[in-house]
Amino acid sequence: MTIKKIDRKLCIAHCGICMESCPCDVLRLDEEGKAYIAYVEDCHTCFLCEDDCPVKAVTVSAEVIGTPLPY
Ligand code: SF4
Ligand code: SF4
Repeated sequence: MTIKKIDRKLCIAHCGICMESCPCDVLRLDEEGKAYIAYVEDCHTCFLCEDDCPVKAVTVSAEVIGTPLPY
């Protein structure tokens, strides 16, 4: 349950909308001005970054990965 991925090929350099949208300060821009996930553990799965990205480069998943049973 977290942000999963940002597609660098789709990301518009120096856009930064997702970073501005994120209330949890998860995202940063790299030296090329493209967004990356800097602090994944702080993501609260609010979907704002995915919703606000103009080119749909961000993937957030609410899927919960089940813990395997001990038997
Ligand atoms: S889903 Fe919400 S908390 Fe997580 S990175 Fe995107 S905007 Fe930030
Ligand atoms: S909102 Fe989309 S295009 Fe803009 S920096 Fe974030 S991932 Fe890149």
